[in-house]
Amino acid sequence: MSFDSKLTRRTLVVNGLVGATAVITGCATASRNSEIDKLPLVQDDDPVALSVAYYSNTKNVPDDNPLTTSHNVNQKCSNCTHKRAYVGADRIICGTFPGRTVSVDGWCSIYAKG
Ligand code: SF4
Repeated sequence: MSFDSKLTRRTLVVNGLVGATAVITGCATASRNSEIDKLPLVQDDDPVALSVAYYSNTKNVPDDNPLTTSHNVNQKCSNCTHKRAYVGADRIICGTFPGRTVSVDGWCSIYAKG
């Protein structure tokens, strides 16, 4: 067996392991993404949402709620420091609502500029 044939076999084995790892990692990522995609969207009338004055659209935040006095229409979940990750283009994972998602256009009284 020549050096070249050993190198070729070694290269094939290494490449095979790298390829298999990539497939396994890809499957795990797809599975995790699938689970994240299933996270429910918080509704405005949800008890936790009501307790923090969450509104799914910052344009609908009323002025007459004591919890919304700091609100302005440029503040929304997509530019909040509590945003953890996007789920698609229109939802966000936020630490205020574990296991659920909020609208990118939402707002709540915990908002802090990110
Ligand atoms: S903490 Fe920030 S990201 Fe979370 S719901 Fe409130 S405004 Fe949106």
